Amino acid sequence: MAVLEQLTSQQAIDLENKYGAHNYHPLPVVLSKGEGVHVWDVEGKKYYDFLSAYSAVNQGHCHPKIVDAMTKQAQTLSLTSRAFYNDMLGKFEKFASETFNFDKLLPMNTGAEAVETALKICRKWAYEVKGIDENEAEIIVCENNFHGRTTTIISFSNDPVARKNFGPYTKGFIKIEYDNLKALEEALESNKNIAGFLVEPIQGEAGVYVPSEGYLTKAKALCEKHNVLFIADEVQTGIARTGRLLAIDHEKVKADILILGKALSGGAYPVSAVLANDNIMGVIRPGNHGSTYGGNPIAAAVAIAALEVVKDENLAERAETLGQLFRAEMQKFIETSNIVTTVRGKGLLNAIIINDSEDSDTAWNICLALRDNGLLAKPTHGNIIRFAPPLVMTEEQLLDCVSIITKTLKTFEK
Ligand SMILES: *Cc1c(COP(=O)(O)O)cnc(C)c1O
Repeated sequence: MAVLEQLTSQQAIDLENKYGAHNYHPLPVVLSKGEGVHVWDVEGKKYYDFLSAYSAVNQGHCHPKIVDAMTKQAQTLSLTSRAFYNDMLGKFEKFASETFNFDKLLPMNTGAEAVETALKICRKWAYEVKGIDENEAEIIVCENNFHGRTTTIISFSNDPVARKNFGPYTKGFIKIEYDNLKALEEALESNKNIAGFLVEPIQGEAGVYVPSEGYLTKAKALCEKHNVLFIADEVQTGIARTGRLLAIDHEKVKADILILGKALSGGAYPVSAVLANDNIMGVIRPGNHGSTYGGNPIAAAVAIAALEVVKDENLAERAETLGQLFRAEMQKFIETSNIVTTVRGKGLLNAIIINDSEDSDTAWNICLALRDNGLLAKPTHGNIIRFAPPLVMTEEQLLDCVSIITKTLKTFEK
């Protein structure tokens, strides 16, 4: 077959299976087009996207303003490397720093790279500012975290599938229970060498675990008391997803180090960033860290446009309102149903728990049925289904989706 021939879904799946590494287990649907809240498969069937590429596409698929910024910049200057200055990076750094209220930004490409960057900054700060003895710094992380896939990051994961046979593991991390202030306090008090506390404001991959109200505020206060950096991984929760620009904004918490990715580009291009104030970012000097593509002009142009769309279209407010409506409608359904036990989340980052054992394939089968009924979602960790549509959805579309979801779930009642 010619390389660019239009494939059927089955042909595309067969190609990936034969020539691609099997590092994912995709839902069997082959997409070839996206616009706003919708995607289309190669046979032309239309779906609501309820994953949004793990919350990268908050601004909707192929947002015209973002595509326009990207294509214009791609035709002008795409990559200089940081060996030279370019005329877009500074604009992005200023705009994002002001938007998130930090002195400085360090640009990267993927979420995992931004997490690695934050860990490096935190360690260097610990030695040069806090005064911890060299190689003694420890960073506290939470059980069931997801921060990416690099060797260091999986070293402090407790997902056996992500970890097993990838050792030896990076040292210097202490794992505590999520949403447990006592555990955090004990870890901080029992060890003088703590440099930072890395936390997801809502654990997305783990199954949309929303911590108790006040957890983040009190965790931040404990970090301050012990001169420990509060590092917020907002790669999935940030950029309006949870009904605020950042999920920590719900508790008016200010991070010492903020990690962004995914929707920072609206799904158009890999862009991530780490933000911090001068007293922390100042430890990074030429040669300490970098990336050939990090801060390239296309990334800068795309990220500016993506952040402007979030502001211009009031996506945080929209996520807040639609999220409340979604959970209220799902709660009504749950009261009449025995297939779903819980709906939880914030803004448009939500999940339902299916009433079946964790190792059952019910959630997967429900996702297949949702696909057949025109809505794409994916189970996360066994019997949990995450629902995270693009934030540009209308109320009418959301109610249409609720009806698809509840009608589908009804066919699985026991
Ligand atoms: C997706 C994600 C990452 C990793 O981002 P990649 O771009 O896939 O490397 C890190 N942290 C959180 C919370 C995420 O959801």
